[in-house]
Amino acid sequence: MKKSLIAGNWKMYKTPAESINFVSELVKNIKSYEDRDVLICPPFTSLYPVSKIIKNSAVKLGAQNVYFENEGAYTGEISPLMLKDTGVEYVICGHSERRNIFGESDEIINKKVKKVVETGMNAILCVGEKLEEREKGETFNVIENQVKRCLEGFDKFENLVIAYEPVWAIGTGKTALPSQAEEVHIFIRELIAKIYNKDIAENLIILYGGSVKPENIDQLMKEKNIDGVLVGGACLKVESFLRIIDYRG
Ligand code: PEP
Repeated sequence: MKKSLIAGNWKMYKTPAESINFVSELVKNIKSYEDRDVLICPPFTSLYPVSKIIKNSAVKLGAQNVYFENEGAYTGEISPLMLKDTGVEYVICGHSERRNIFGESDEIINKKVKKVVETGMNAILCVGEKLEEREKGETFNVIENQVKRCLEGFDKFENLVIAYEPVWAIGTGKTALPSQAEEVHIFIRELIAKIYNKDIAENLIILYGGSVKPENIDQLMKEKNIDGVLVGGACLKVESFLRIIDYRG
């Protein structure tokens, strides 16, 4: 059975002490589910202490970024081996904040995705159009280019999740309508079927991200092609994240 994935991206929030409190509370209160996986992506400094607390729990550990070399003179970077050794199972690659604030290109994201998978972790590849691109009717083109460029040379399609995150919906409180998200998810699934094959496309987990909150999660998860969500702001409070995890789809 294909499980859904509810992922929380903490961005640059929570000190190690705050992270420990949050995760202790989460682990204590989370229900057990057979049909969904739960993932949290804390900042690098919280990964190790958090990994200790979620060990043997239903919560998995993810990172928000990575570099594409195992080691070397890359001041300030973190390698996939370091993440794996800390218990990280998923790495977000190409989040729009990485693309737009830190200038990450599709080529760099491509290297990261490949390296994450090669290291034995799952990559969450983020794609999404900006508001002006949507208004010009370029959404599908933008998504197609991002997917193709970020997956170039990625012959053996495995351990990959795609997150559709329209940039205009991230951190803005403006959620895409479930039908708007569903139409892009269908487009991505069909694109993956064309590039790889139908089986791979059907088994692919496609997340929606962009102002997901307790008030809209149930509607979003009712869509056939939305296999989970990547949540920013609303995953920072235990109660709100627990409600999102407990969606009724
Ligand atoms: C995100 O950071 O991936 C995100 C979707 O943020 P928010 O839920 O705050 O829009």
